[in-house]
Amino acid sequence: AAKEAGGGCSAHYLPEMGAKAEKVFELETMIKEGLLAKQFTAYFQAKVELSTGKITGAEALCRWIHPEKGIISPAEFIPIAEKTGHILEIGDMMMKQACQFAVECNKVSKEPFVVAVNVSAKQLVYGRMLTTLGKCLQETGCRASWLELEITESLLLSETDDMVELLERIANLGILITIDDFGTGYSAMSYLSRFPIKCLKIDQSFIRDMCSDGQKRVLVTAILAMANGLGLKTVAEGVEDEQVSAELANLKCDFGQGYLWHRPSCPEELLSQIKLTEAA
Ligand code: C2E
Ligand code: MG
Ligand code: MG
Ligand code: MG
Repeated sequence: AAKEAGGGCSAHYLPEMGAKAEKVFELETMIKEGLLAKQFTAYFQAKVELSTGKITGAEALCRWIHPEKGIISPAEFIPIAEKTGHILEIGDMMMKQACQFAVECNKVSKEPFVVAVNVSAKQLVYGRMLTTLGKCLQETGCRASWLELEITESLLLSETDDMVELLERIANLGILITIDDFGTGYSAMSYLSRFPIKCLKIDQSFIRDMCSDGQKRVLVTAILAMANGLGLKTVAEGVEDEQVSAELANLKCDFGQGYLWHRPSCPEELLSQIKLTEAA
């Protein structure tokens, strides 16, 4: 089709690519400036125990609070930050804030409160990652068991030998490792036994309409049965309504995360929610 359209096609194609490249370049520069101006910060979203409705943990989600553009979504800047390497600086900042938040939450929570942080492939370099983790835990007084790393499936399919060793070291420190967006990757199930994984987080694309879409319901049921059989904990992400929550509890899913309970918010706001539930 490109040949048929001839020059007309390429004339249309080139400026479009140029505009896109320009936008990426503009974002790159903005990220650099944003980091210097400390515009990136961690928001937190509660994870809820489905059987009791209690907040037992939270996930740190990066927010870019831009003075003119407002809040910029991670979907826009994380992929670019991963390419430019700025994800390392963002990741370090997120890890530190997650540890600080875990310390605050554990002051008010009777049960151990676990805070999860999303980790990109570029961050999982042996020496660097262990140094960052050690520093964050030490400087904040956070216990290893209060920290959880969320990594995606695709990440486990590459660089396997080094990755197994690094994740073993992290797990041996007592840090929890969870597979994020489970079901959307290549689902080469063999990695579940090769890596020290404690928990599966089922992607929201399966959860959202599992009550109206029979096939999705079958998939969620199968994933939960497998996870329970393997002794893995399970979290459902993107729970927006009561019906889905009840169905997940029926299927023995352990935890839920979603707008039904709490949206991501600044740490102070979630902390006051936790204080309220602890007092109740
Ligand atoms: P994720 O780790 O899978 O995080 C879940 C996303 O779902 C978050 O989007 C969250 O705000 C959203 N969400 C939670 N509950 C609901 C719900 O009930 N309905 C709907 N529609 N959405 C819900 P967010 O914050 O925009 O983050 C998007 C993605 O960006 C994350 O997906 C994660 O992959 C990435 N990300 C965010 N922060 C970081 C970070 O600090 N480091 C890295 N490497 N990636 C990050
Ligand atoms: Mg996540
Ligand atoms: Mg996820
Ligand atoms: Mg997701």
